[in-house]
Order: sequence, then C-alpha cells, then structure tokens
Amino acid sequence: MDYDVLIVGAGPGGIFSAYELVKLRPELRICVLEAGKPLAERKCPIDGEKVKNCIGCKPCSIMSGFGGAGAFSDGKYNITNDFGGTLHEYIGKDKALELMNYVDGINMAHGGEGTKLYTTAQTEFKTKCLQQDLHLLDASVRHLGTDINYVVMESIYEELKEKVDFRFLTTAQTVEDLGGSYRVVTDKGDFEGKYCIISAGRSGSKWMENVCRDLDIQTKSNRVDIGVRVEIPASVFSHITDELYESKIVYRTQKYGDLVRTFCMNPRGIVVNENTNGIVTVNGHSYEDPSKQTENTNFALLVAKHFSEPFKDSNGYGESIARLSNMLGGGVIVQRFGDLISGRRSTTERIDESFVRPTLKATPGDLSLIMPKRILDGIIEMIYALDKIAPGTANYDTLLYGVEVKFYNMEVAVDQNLMTSFKNLFVIGDCSGITHSLSHASASGVHVARYIASL
Ligand SMILES: Cc1cc2nc3c(=O)[nH]c(=O)nc-3n(C[C@H](O)[C@H](O)[C@H](O)COP(=O)(O)OP(=O)(O)OC[C@H]3O[C@@H](n4cnc5c(N)ncnc54)[C@H](O)[C@@H]3O)c2cc1C
Repeated sequence: MDYDVLIVGAGPGGIFSAYELVKLRPELRICVLEAGKPLAERKCPIDGEKVKNCIGCKPCSIMSGFGGAGAFSDGKYNITNDFGGTLHEYIGKDKALELMNYVDGINMAHGGEGTKLYTTAQTEFKTKCLQQDLHLLDASVRHLGTDINYVVMESIYEELKEKVDFRFLTTAQTVEDLGGSYRVVTDKGDFEGKYCIISAGRSGSKWMENVCRDLDIQTKSNRVDIGVRVEIPASVFSHITDELYESKIVYRTQKYGDLVRTFCMNPRGIVVNENTNGIVTVNGHSYEDPSKQTENTNFALLVAKHFSEPFKDSNGYGESIARLSNMLGGGVIVQRFGDLISGRRSTTERIDESFVRPTLKATPGDLSLIMPKRILDGIIEMIYALDKIAPGTANYDTLLYGVEVKFYNMEVAVDQNLMTSFKNLFVIGDCSGITHSLSHASASGVHVARYIASL
C-alpha cells in the first residue's frame, strides 16, 4: 500500500485533516491529491484590461489548488452552529463549536494573530432588527481578510509540505474499494491508501456524485440559494459592520412567506466574479489592509429554494438562472435598485451617472428579465426592510449584481464520524453537503483526522 491516508482535495477540509493527522500521528504516510496548483502558482488571468471576463481556465485558480475555494476568499470564519452547515447534526453542537474554535486557534498561530473577532450576541443592534421583524443570527466571526487568509494558508503549507505528499495538478477520477484499502485512480496514476478522505468541495460536486453513484452510496438532493449582491456606500452600513463586521439577518417576506437572508458581508470590499463549472456568478470579498479597501460595502441577499417531487435538480435550477444572466450579459449583470423599481434596464450611461461607483465591471442590464418573480419580489421586500435599520439601503443608486447563486452539494449519507457505508471511506467539507463554510469544512477535517488517529 502506498499510503496510510489518501486525501482528495486541498481545500480547508483536506488541509485540516492533514494538519491534525500530522500532529496526532506523525508516523502516518499521508498523500493529498489536488486538481489545482500550489498556492503560489494560483493566478486568475482576469486583469480587467487584457482579460476582462472568465476564460474558463482548467483548473480554475479561484476554486482549485492549495487552499481550495477559500484561498482568495474574505477569510471569514463564522464560529456558529446557526449557519455555515449542519455539522452539529452529526457530531453535536458543543463538539462542532469546540472544533471551530480549535481551527481558529491554528489560524491565529499561523499568521492570523491580531485579526478581529466580532460577536453578534447580546447587541443593541439585535433588538433594533427585531423591532423591524428582521432576525439577527448569533455568531462569532473571525475576519482574516483576503490578505491575511493567504498568509495563513502559506504558513500552514510551509509547515506541512515536508510531512505530507502533496500531488498538485492531479485529478481523481474514480475511487475503488479494494476491501481493506482504497485505490484512487487519477490522471497521473493510481494511489492506494488504507483510509480515504474525500474533500473535493463545490468544484468537485459533480465528480462526488459520480463516486456515490459508482459505489452506491446514498445521497439526497439539497437546496439552492438564489439572489443578488448588493453594493452600497460603506457609510450606509458602517454602524453595523464596524461593530459586527458580518451580520446574518433573516427576513420572512409578507408576500410569500419566503426567507430572505443577508450573506457574506464585505465592508469596504469589492464585488468579484465567481466561476463554477463554467458558469459566471457574483461574489464579494474585502481586505484587512486599509490601503486595499474601497468606499463601498457589499453583501448578498439570498432566497433558499427547496424542491419537492418530482423535481430533484435544485442545482440545475440555479445554474439555468445563472446561465440566463450569462447569456444576456456575457457574465454578471448590474442594475441600479431605482431602475429595477422603475421597470427599466440600467445602461452604461445610467451606471456612470450613479453616485455609487461599481467595484466590478459587470454588464448593465435588467435583472427582472432573469430572476424569477417570486425571488426578485422577496429581495425587493427585504431591501425596503433593511432600509429601516440602515437608511439608504433602498436608495435609487444602490447597485444590484446578479446572479448570486449558492450551490449546495447533495448530502452524502455518512455517520457521526463522517464515514460512509464503506469502512474507512470518509466524505467531509462542502462535497458532503453537510458544510458550506470555511469554519465548518475545516472543523469536519479535524473531526475525521481525530477519529482516524484514534483507531
Ligand atoms: C470567492 C469565495 C469566497 C468565499 N468566502 C467565504 C468566506 O468568507 N467565509 C466562508 O465561511 N466561506 C467562504 N466561501 C466558501 C468556502 O470557501 C468553502 O465553504 C470552503 O472552501 C469549503 O472547503 P472544502 O475543503 O470543503 O472545499 P474547497 O475549498 O472547494 O476545496 C476542494 C478542493 O478539492 C479539489 N478537487 C475537487 N475535485 C477534485 C478531484 N476530482 N481531484 C482532486 N482534487 C479535486 C479542488 O480543486 C479544491 O481545491 C467562499 C467561497 C468562494 C468561492
């Protein structure tokens, strides 16, 4: 057998599995198979001049490589069971929080020291939200920022690289059960290990589905979140972001009773393109370094869609809506809130006239031609509700970028050790459908590593 432990994917889930295994069982031979590149070689060619839009690099440097999808993220580690995944349903709430705090400690020891930890519990703002039927979820939020997040990843890699066999640009194709060990067939040859941890993330979701189908591992379909990214002058939200940094606020719409929530708040940040399997959607991040900060704050407003029989392909539904925006706009579309309410498209001239300067070069257009009415109505209702706690949110020039889609992997059947029905085959992180955040994915990695180390 080549290795004791094979890990597929070097995102937070895979990295923290390897980290904890090295710490607890340094004698184990560990190999990480990663489709993307080492951190230092990850470069997205979009420069806004020569390359304006996504050109579909394979592998995509934003989603793949050491650090996974989180490498160029805002590095917000939400320490909470209220959102970011359902890990606590498998391992218990106390354990999940303990692991997230443990991960935070490791990040602090690898360059994160000095970054701020915000908390939403017991704040006056929570009461103010409630008075407007807006519900602020409890969380502690460690904001590393894109820059410090990179430093942390770099430092962890430096520590692991001599102890773990990292195989970059190596894409797993199949996983075979050899009865007592696993063979992972890749485009660079076969690898065999006693334990196999799959942490292929969002970008590996389709591949994960194939693995489950081939091995006959049970799955259930999940949800998709669809919405827009809102960009406003930072001062509109500064009384919230200065105190809490990230606030997850949930609102139940009067019209349909749907839940709309804020997601991924980036004070003084930038709006960015995101590419998932060739579909361009919108996201955002911000920097800890004041020199890289902008005059705007951005956050997503998302509506969760769950489907019942007979339709199962919730991700396909989200993809189709995102494709529509790509078809009409060649990528992400931007529209002023006032234009949307007035029933007219935004144009380049109208965006140029705007008092809010867009931080992403997107195509001016009309989101009502793309987004389902129910979802758009919910978003508009929530913008007016937010305007009561942050006056200015519903201004004419507020920018809306679409489409923001949060795809969720189907949920893979695993036990409390995140082990599948196959002994010693584990599925963790976002590809398990159980986590959808840096903190939960990382915590799931530590959890499995501790279990393997205990055997
Ligand atoms: C732009 C952006 C910003 C984000 N910001 C935040 C944030 O601030 N806070 C937060 O909590 N979350 C954020 N997220 C989400 C967060 O990054 C993910 O939840 C987290 O990275 C999941 O970790 P993971 O290890 O499960 O998967 P990933 O990070 O996706 O890593 C999976 C890795 O597996 C590799 N892989 C996939 N398939 C294969 C294969 N077949 N063979 C070999 N390798 C494979 C991929 O290349 C990838 O490197 C953000 C995501 C994006 C895209």
